[in-house]
Amino acid sequence: MAKTAREVPDACALRLPGEHLPVAHRGRGLPRSSRAGRPGLAGRGRLLRHRPLARRQGTGCPCPRGGPATRNRPLRAQGAAARRRGLRALRLRARHGPRQPRRHRGAAPRVERGGRRFVPRLRRLARARRARSLLRGRGRLRGGAGPSRGGFPGARDRYRFAPGGHALSLALHADHSLTDANTLGLPCVAERHAAPATPAELREALTLARRHDWLLTVLGGGSNLILPERLPGLVIQPAMARWWLEEQGDGALVHAEAAVEWHALVIALAQRGLWGAENLALIPGRCGAAPIQNIGAYGVELSDLLEAVHLVHLDDGREAVLSAADCAFGYRDSVFKGALTGRVVITRLVLRVSRTPRPRLGYGDLASRLDAEPTALAVAQAVCAIRREKLPDPATLCNAGSFFKNPLIDGERARRLLAEHPTMPHFPQPDGRVKLAAGWLIDRCGLKGWRQGHFGVHERQALVLVHFGGGSADELLGFAGEVAARVKACFGVSLEREPRWAGA
Ligand SMILES: Cc1cc2nc3c(=O)[nH]c(=O)nc-3n(C[C@H](O)[C@H](O)[C@H](O)COP(=O)(O)OP(=O)(O)OC[C@H]3O[C@@H](n4cnc5c(N)ncnc54)[C@H](O)[C@@H]3O)c2cc1C
Repeated sequence: MAKTAREVPDACALRLPGEHLPVAHRGRGLPRSSRAGRPGLAGRGRLLRHRPLARRQGTGCPCPRGGPATRNRPLRAQGAAARRRGLRALRLRARHGPRQPRRHRGAAPRVERGGRRFVPRLRRLARARRARSLLRGRGRLRGGAGPSRGGFPGARDRYRFAPGGHALSLALHADHSLTDANTLGLPCVAERHAAPATPAELREALTLARRHDWLLTVLGGGSNLILPERLPGLVIQPAMARWWLEEQGDGALVHAEAAVEWHALVIALAQRGLWGAENLALIPGRCGAAPIQNIGAYGVELSDLLEAVHLVHLDDGREAVLSAADCAFGYRDSVFKGALTGRVVITRLVLRVSRTPRPRLGYGDLASRLDAEPTALAVAQAVCAIRREKLPDPATLCNAGSFFKNPLIDGERARRLLAEHPTMPHFPQPDGRVKLAAGWLIDRCGLKGWRQGHFGVHERQALVLVHFGGGSADELLGFAGEVAARVKACFGVSLEREPRWAGA
């Protein structure tokens, strides 16, 4: 037998003062005549109308979307789940005020439509205020600065309300530790940290920084950064992490947002038989940082497949799209290390990939590990295997990959050095300069495996400096300076640091 309105359990424990049950619960869902004459329709009408409240408050609604777990169970028996649903409803109301029926042109206020009562704006805001104060009383909504009441330990969370009572969802964390957020494992605390997950949240973070004149630092996966002990201002770590394909001819354009993990994207493309990024497998970090130093490995650079970079200017929030030519890419270099240093946040990359096989196996011993006609995935896996043999995993031994760039010297000096060191690896460049292998130079100075204090030169790959734990950024910079000075003394060649210093 269909329940009457009175049998529906009252969830008044979760109702706000002054709030009435929706009309359907008072038996006014349909005109009395239709309920009496057509019981099936009456039952259906009532269920449809009370569904939102029943679902929110766990009133045992037998509607299919309630699911077997909640169906026909009294409110108390549902315990924590019902309380959570009720709290979610309260939070929504605190942000947006009570849900409103669509108001048709010419309709007078306070008319009933679809079982909900139209509430004038001022009263709606008053109700939202009441919901917020109720939530604050329960410690569920954090307002203003103050000691931490949840979230990260030691963090102060803040919900702010825009004019009109709408909450802005960006969470700011004060004194946020970044020690686990950099692969060098350097101790660092950000004065403030935000991880905007939408363009609106990013705009909000930039507006806040402008209003309060906060210094801005953009952080990705932290695999190419040297962090100071304290980062003042606001650290923005974009959290937009969607990617999608736009089919084009025999290939596709890949749109990848800033927080997409680079290696995961490379593998996903290779699995779909899309060629272009496979040689760049296992490079740590996120897509947003890839153009900064034009990441490269095994004879391929990001610039070989990059079509465009979407970005936002930090100073005025202006959005822009740069073509590959605008990015002025070079060896571990780009406009983002020059004219645009620290002035933009990259939000999205557009890459071009192809279904036509085009393996590039000329670098190192890559070709010897593969068949004559390898797949893109086989190439990516071979690259991963070689890298795992050569490079320490930051998860087990803290490092930032290559600590120095391979130096470029002019042809004449290269010839003189080659006369002295005939086995020296060297790579002539199209512009007449010659690239040397920084790792070989460090190794030849007898520094492979050298350790001083908390830092050392990796025992298998001399280009990688490792942190054994307990060290600081100053100590690392001192150690790296000592390595560079010895190479200069031996070969007369200056080494340039690859990871960027994030301090002011
Ligand atoms: C084990 C290991 C191996 C590596 N191998 C290679 C390699 O083979 N080739 C290579 O090129 N690199 C290599 N790297 C370096 C590093 O992986 C890349 O430079 C990577 O692109 C850094 O990404 P990230 O997200 O960690 O950036 P982060 O280290 O967080 O930041 C690097 C720089 O980019 C800026 N930045 C980050 N995100 C954004 C954004 N959204 N908008 C604007 N600026 C931003 C930061 O401010 C910072 O200046 C290696 C690193 C490690 C630890």
